[in-house]
Amino acid sequence: MLKIENLHANVGDKPILKGLNLNINAGEIHAIMGPNGAGKSTLAYTIGGRDGYDVTGGAVDFDGEDLLSLDPHERAAAGLFLGFQYPVEIPGVSNLQFLRESLNAQKRARGEDELSGAEFIRLAKEKAAMLKMDMEMLKRPVNVGFSGGEKKRNEMVQMGIIDPKIAILDETDSGLDIDALRIVGEGINNIMRRPDKAVLLITHYQRLLDLVKPDFVHVLAGGKIVRSGGAELALELEEYGYEEVAA
Ligand code: ADP
Ligand code: MG
Ligand code: MG
Repeated sequence: MLKIENLHANVGDKPILKGLNLNINAGEIHAIMGPNGAGKSTLAYTIGGRDGYDVTGGAVDFDGEDLLSLDPHERAAAGLFLGFQYPVEIPGVSNLQFLRESLNAQKRARGEDELSGAEFIRLAKEKAAMLKMDMEMLKRPVNVGFSGGEKKRNEMVQMGIIDPKIAILDETDSGLDIDALRIVGEGINNIMRRPDKAVLLITHYQRLLDLVKPDFVHVLAGGKIVRSGGAELALELEEYGYEEVAA
């Protein structure tokens, strides 16, 4: 589904990704771990197509398409979802408006029919119920005044409504308490653990991986994947540290 080959990327004029290779098939959950400054967020932003992250070499194939030739909104419409540590607040725009417009923009880009107001509300109710989110919260401005856990639940509802093919979640578990962490873990499992979907979790912590068991764990250091293994590699990292394990 996502095939990253020899990816090189600069932030400004500083080379950060230096020949990164990664293959993610449908049905797989991958975790990337690695020391601070290794380039994990740079990888997520580069895949997302964020301004200021310039690809200087390599290729990324997403479901048969040349991902790097697509605009960020085309990447989203093609089924790429990015989640970050700090969800944005959007005063003056309700969650429901925001989600409906996001979904319909993607549908337009794919040449599909938009959902009517009634169809959208039905979908939103279904996803909110699945993620135990109060519909009243969805009427409030996006993330404004939400607790950390509420923002995460909201992000999971968003992911459920958008229904992406692949989700890349960058330290979405950082700073969460146990309850919020469980919301995220259950959200990922409920929405994304399917034969036709894939997940890339970027995390420092085993505790998320206890809830969402990865099929593969990779260590990113110095702008490349330096080691790959199964779920047990995360435990090894926790016990021995990056330097020991990645050396
Ligand atoms: P990680 O997520 O693994 O902690 P990052 O991808 O955030 O690492 O950062 C990788 C490197 O890129 C670091 O050396 C960091 O200082 C640098 N970097 C990240 N963002 C910027 C930026 N906007 N401007 C300049 N340097 C940056
Ligand atoms: Mg960091
Ligand atoms: Mg980071």
